[in-house]
Amino acid sequence: FRVPTPVNEPVRSYAPGSPERAELQRVYKELKSKELDVPMYIGGEEVRTGNTHPMLQPHDHQHILGQFHEGDASHVEQAINAALAAREEWSNMAWEHRASIFLKAADLLAGPWRAKLNAATMLGQSKNAYQAEIDSACELVDFLRFNVQYATEIYRMQPESSPGVWNRMEHRPLEGFVFALTPFNFTAIAGNLPTSAAMMGNVVVWKPAYTQIYAAHMIMELLKEAGLPDGVINLIYVDGPVAGDVIFNHADFAGIHFTGSTGVFQSIWKSIGNNIQKYKAYPRIVGETGGKDFILAHRTAEAKPLATAITRGAFEYQGQKCSAASRAYIPNNLWEEVKQYVIEDVQSFKMGPPEDFSNFINAVIDEKSFDKITRYIDNAKNSNEVEVIAGGNYDKSKGYFIEPTVLLSHNPQYVTMCEEIFGPVITIYVYNEDNFEDTLELVSSTSPYGLTGAIFGRDRYAIELATKKLSDSAGNFYINDKPTGAVVGQQPFGGSRASGTNDKAGSMLNLLRWVSARSIKETF
Ligand code: GLU
Repeated sequence: FRVPTPVNEPVRSYAPGSPERAELQRVYKELKSKELDVPMYIGGEEVRTGNTHPMLQPHDHQHILGQFHEGDASHVEQAINAALAAREEWSNMAWEHRASIFLKAADLLAGPWRAKLNAATMLGQSKNAYQAEIDSACELVDFLRFNVQYATEIYRMQPESSPGVWNRMEHRPLEGFVFALTPFNFTAIAGNLPTSAAMMGNVVVWKPAYTQIYAAHMIMELLKEAGLPDGVINLIYVDGPVAGDVIFNHADFAGIHFTGSTGVFQSIWKSIGNNIQKYKAYPRIVGETGGKDFILAHRTAEAKPLATAITRGAFEYQGQKCSAASRAYIPNNLWEEVKQYVIEDVQSFKMGPPEDFSNFINAVIDEKSFDKITRYIDNAKNSNEVEVIAGGNYDKSKGYFIEPTVLLSHNPQYVTMCEEIFGPVITIYVYNEDNFEDTLELVSSTSPYGLTGAIFGRDRYAIELATKKLSDSAGNFYINDKPTGAVVGQQPFGGSRASGTNDKAGSMLNLLRWVSARSIKETF
């Protein structure tokens, strides 16, 4: 049960003039100049349906990256059958042989594949090089390596025995197939959701978001190169409700590993509930969904790091992180100073396509997101409850660009203080510094979510109080730091309430959901 002790993959800086920057720029250009023809992968076969759709660059929507082949209900059936056909061999394979495939994938990604997957994430999802690096290189490498370590810890978990009796525990794969439904915003999550279940011996049907097929395709190729047997993970591009209809009606459906919106997750849960008598076993439901993540400052906080946390936490990757700071509560004694730093910071952010490495802000993912986010901004401009103190402009003529926007609300229940926007918008509410305890109550009661949050301050009593009172408001709670950027193995990630089942990606808790344990008692 010994595997190489994982260490977090070091983040490269891509400094101007560095060889890694030159390499990334070269690969980016090369990919951009090609048009990929992207098939589904079912049972190891490339499946081309001829029903093709373009893959766009969000920052340059007239420039396509290629076409993907869309499937229908029959491909979902085929993918399930291929998974079930591979199940016997895969689930019986000794764990170290499964582990070896994922460890090799991690090494390939940390080495020769790194620039390719980073460039794909920059092109297809409009991430800047640094955000791509911490996602598609470091976080995915970490997931692959740490999950192997967690698997060994699970297999080592054994009960007590006594003379004449040997008790043991088997951690078996689930009976059936797992459905991985992955989001556009993190390449690492797209890679982790199918592979974590597969690491524990499960077979998988994987459906990525349509806006992330470009990178998903490359992850699949990477896994094949690492030696993943045919049929263990089957990658399909099928409309969500069409896929759901087949999958949630299938007797062998054994679990879902999901990251995406709260609304979709809740409707999936209902479908599973409606079909519960059809399944061989109660399916595992693991989901990470939305957030309305907060930064709360106490009057003893330092203005500068607080302002940096606000702008970084809210605007990295255009705020398209479930963890992004989207509401902040600042005491009146700090506000003028914080406001000045925030405005300075926002004005220093350059916006444009990711190929220019100095652009901190790139485009939002697609037109639908653009329209939704800008509607919130327009409504704010027309409201007398809120003022725009930075940003507020947008333009979709070439790419889906929205300026990082800071709103100041006079109403702590204004809609942008409560609803998830999933874009570069943060709303700030200034409270009276003497009302810290009431503000804690406000932070907790304003949102149905419980994903991430941060407290800033130097008063240890205030920090302790916030940590206690906000215990259900944030599954990932940060003290004097921004609420984004959880690192695998260091800050296991996930929230409760409407934010998900809190099965902590990047920890043993998550992998435990992909096994069904059997206790064996033998009497001598
Ligand atoms: N794990 C990411 C973070 O800590 C967020 C993941 C997500 O957006 O789903 O920022």
